[in-house]
Formats: sequence, C-alpha cells, structure tokens
Amino acid sequence: MTSDQHDHSHCLSMFQKLSEYIDNELDEMTCRDIERHVEECVPCKICLETLKRTVNLCKKLESKPVPESVSLKLKEFIQSMSDGRSIVQK
Ligand SMILES: [Zn+2]
Repeated sequence: MTSDQHDHSHCLSMFQKLSEYIDNELDEMTCRDIERHVEECVPCKICLETLKRTVNLCKKLESKPVPESVSLKLKEFIQSMSDGRSIVQK
C-alpha cells in the first residue's frame, strides 16, 4: 500500500453511503469511517465538500431528500478519477 496508489474502489463503496451520511442516517461507525477516509483522501474530501454544498442548496430550494441525480453525478465524478485523471493538481 502506497499513499499515491489510491484505492478508488474503496472510495466508490463509500460514496454510495454518502447521501445517507449527509442526511445523518448512518450509524456512527460508518460516519467515522467516511470522515477518516476523507482526512487522507483529498479527491474524496473535495467530493464530500462539493456534495455537502450541493445538498445544502437542494435543501434550501425544497425540503426533499437528496436527489438521486446528485449521488449519480458523484459516482461519475469518482469514476472519472479512478480512470486515472486526478482533479488535484500539484
Ligand atoms: Zn477516497
């Protein structure tokens, strides 16, 4: 395991839970797992921040749960990064 070889499959599985995380519907252990991951994973941290912002916007507009399109976009985002294109530039 090296720090630059990031396991995006782990990211993907985590992001499937993120909409629940945003809604505070996850148990504490899973929340901590996500939080610990984004501490070490910059791309995921950016994703999470982006998602939080998007969710906040959605909640302001209408009091509905997080739309599925948000988590779909997020998955596409992660997928594109796991293809080897990192959005994080040095
Ligand atoms: Zn990650």
